[in-house]
Amino acid sequence: MGMATIEELAGRVHGSVVVPGSDGYEEARRVYNGMVDRRPAAVVRCVNAGDVLATVAYAREHGLDLAVRGGAHSVPGYGTCEGGLVADLGGMRGVRVDPATRTARVEGGATLADLDAATHAFGLGVTGGVVSTTGVGGLTLGGGFGHLARGLGLTCDNLLSADVVTADGRLLVASEHEYPDLFWALRGGTGNFGAVTSFEFRLSPVDTVHVGLFFHEAEQTEAVLKHFREYIATAPEQLGAFAGFQIAPPLPFIPEERHGDTFVIVVACWNGPEAEAEQAFQPFRDAAPVSFELSTPMPYPALQSLFDGLLPPGLQHYWKAAFSPGLTDAAVTAHAAHGPKVPVINSTCHIYPINGACHRVAPEATAFSYRDAGFATVIAGMWPDPADNEANTAWVRDYYAAIAPHSSPGGYVNFMAEDDQGRVSDNYRDNYARLVQVKRAYDPGNLFHVNHNIRP
Ligand code: FAD
Repeated sequence: MGMATIEELAGRVHGSVVVPGSDGYEEARRVYNGMVDRRPAAVVRCVNAGDVLATVAYAREHGLDLAVRGGAHSVPGYGTCEGGLVADLGGMRGVRVDPATRTARVEGGATLADLDAATHAFGLGVTGGVVSTTGVGGLTLGGGFGHLARGLGLTCDNLLSADVVTADGRLLVASEHEYPDLFWALRGGTGNFGAVTSFEFRLSPVDTVHVGLFFHEAEQTEAVLKHFREYIATAPEQLGAFAGFQIAPPLPFIPEERHGDTFVIVVACWNGPEAEAEQAFQPFRDAAPVSFELSTPMPYPALQSLFDGLLPPGLQHYWKAAFSPGLTDAAVTAHAAHGPKVPVINSTCHIYPINGACHRVAPEATAFSYRDAGFATVIAGMWPDPADNEANTAWVRDYYAAIAPHSSPGGYVNFMAEDDQGRVSDNYRDNYARLVQVKRAYDPGNLFHVNHNIRP
């Protein structure tokens, strides 16, 4: 873009426009995944819905690629683009809680930390992911699950309405009552349908939760995972828990000589009466001997930021994802073969249950189709040094190849890499045709294509 054009764009927005060569460009073009090295023609630091409208219109008028950025956590780096325009909503992070109606209005660039801090003040909360720096925007639009999902459903199940800037330059308030087809597609269909400037959520009581971290020796993987799959299928819904693999960080409850060793772990969150927490956690101890554990009450936002230190921005990311109806014995064997080989402390594999409240929403009720899944697995390769890219991506690929025969064709779209574009229709199964229809209605020119794309 020439200077005159940039000035025209800058004149249309209240926020700043950052271009190559200007102060802050290097930071502005970067996203959370340090592997992504794209140079957009301009990053618009949007400060209100008007700026988003102007940026979307500008991209359309000038035929530019458009990336919409919320929290910038997209593993494929969909929060930036090469040579195009970035609508960066990172300056729009306000959260307004109405305790009387138990709802929250959340701007499109807010992080989970912003959301949790605001709702916690009222003893309220909504399902989020497990790392506080993640954006509410991308997480909600892809579905969203974490510690509270068994009890409260997916994040998108708690969405009441969304203010959406559409490709044709309108701002629509989509809900069950207005633009219901758009609202349906936003709940799982990712950023394909517009830029969301504000989300309205239903909140539920969430305050101090009881947190459990259970570290078992890696040799116990089969026993731990088999026990986990049985217990979590029917455990009380106030219990959130995921299983995974973790190299021991220097935590106070782990003896120094075991730091750096690899364990099979269970991370648990009890959002129920404090007196019942230990009883809910006991099955994790019965599964196999526990080498180290932490079991303690803590404010929910503290749990949400517990893993942040392991995951600073700028790490190299390569991930693979799969849903599966159950965790078969053969799948457990595959996990036991590959999980303990996790190469670096930042990397992990997590196995999240999809059940409880997530199952009470019909597969066709929202775009998120895999309501009948039992588990969502993510193999998350995250490492600091680009020199290690080959070894780390190989770990992710080999691991995924081993579990794929025991998994469904689709995976959770928010856990997918760029080379998973070919799996987009698998992720949505019977909902895919309807998503294409909604895409044709709201974005026939595919302006919003920097994502796991649903092609009109
Ligand atoms: P961005 O890169 O900003 O955006 C991701 C995609 O969403 C892009 O296509 C973008 O255009 C679109 N988008 C973002 N905001 C908007 C908006 N306001 N309007 C329209 N489109 C928008 N997911 C879970 O469900 N549970 C977890 O526990 C979890 N943990 C994670 C931990 C880490 C460390 C990371 C990196 C990711 C995790 N995720 C988790 C995945 C996460 O949900 C996705 O990466 C999600 O896309 C991040 O959203 P974002 O807004 O931060 O990202």
